[in-house]
Amino acid sequence: MINGKTRTCGLIGCPVEHTKSPLIHNTLAEYMGIDLAYVPFCVQDGDLQDAIKGAKALNLLGLNVTVPYKSNVIPFLKDIDPLAKQIGAVNTLVRVDGGYKGYNTDMPGLYRAMVEDGIKIEGEQILLLGAGGVARAVALLMAQKKAKEIVILNRTIQKAKDVCDEVSGFYPDIKMKALSLDEFDTLPMEKYLAIQATNIGMYPKVDEAILEASNFYDRVHTGYDLVFNPEQTKFMKLVKAHGGKSFNGLKMLLYQGIIAYEYWTDTKVPKEAIQRVYQLLQADA
Ligand code: NAP
Repeated sequence: MINGKTRTCGLIGCPVEHTKSPLIHNTLAEYMGIDLAYVPFCVQDGDLQDAIKGAKALNLLGLNVTVPYKSNVIPFLKDIDPLAKQIGAVNTLVRVDGGYKGYNTDMPGLYRAMVEDGIKIEGEQILLLGAGGVARAVALLMAQKKAKEIVILNRTIQKAKDVCDEVSGFYPDIKMKALSLDEFDTLPMEKYLAIQATNIGMYPKVDEAILEASNFYDRVHTGYDLVFNPEQTKFMKLVKAHGGKSFNGLKMLLYQGIIAYEYWTDTKVPKEAIQRVYQLLQADA
């Protein structure tokens, strides 16, 4: 029950109507007996600074940040965690003296999901599809966890080159290559861990995959799609049809939320609570 002491957290972005974050955080609050309520806030273009000032004035405990504000919000923060600064994107704000400190829980969330799914990164050859905000965090994670090589394939090749340059600046020893999508067939016929970090295949355009060519999927031993709606994306189906293992992005969503919740409440979320939230997310998919 909401009462006079209830603390508020929320999500800022635009649009926010389809978010699953209230399900994650309100379930955790109920399960763990924490007096916290989580609500989505649709922030219009041009209102971001006012939204952060308003959140501070209203004493909100924390916020998640989603598209299109993950980078734009940085100038309005009191402080930023070094990892979020390196990634250049923030998805979690935590109340501190005088404002908010920004964190990135997408990258550690993906790592926790991959570890749980038994995905090895060290020594692996990575095909990263996409070069947007999330792809940049994925590329940094792959480099930090000592992948053997990272090949970034993107529609706009310049963006893939930019991500390569940025990641090489932090991890000069990692072999990196940028290609446009249709250049995949210049790659050797080796087996890669492919991470799908574009919007393609998301509901309602469930019949689309970023690449459809059979000889692309012959190179994939595992396909990890960051899209989680639908549960089985076309990319995942194509990976499976070519004998590979496939995973969706629901666990990444789960763990980015769990880590944010741990920051806000200074608690460790128990395993049973994590399982409960994951079951509800799957049922809601
Ligand atoms: P973003 O910054 O907007 O990047 C979008 C990426 O998709 C870019 O690489 C873009 O290529 C590519 N793309 C878009 N439309 C395309 C098209 N028609 N053909 C080819 N490529 C296209 O978005 P983001 O923040 O990185 O998010 C990407 C996706 O990751 C989201 O849609 C979401 O599904 C997923 N995601 C999942 C989680 C999770 O917790 N599981 C968290 C965050 C994001 P160009 O560079 O050529 O434009």
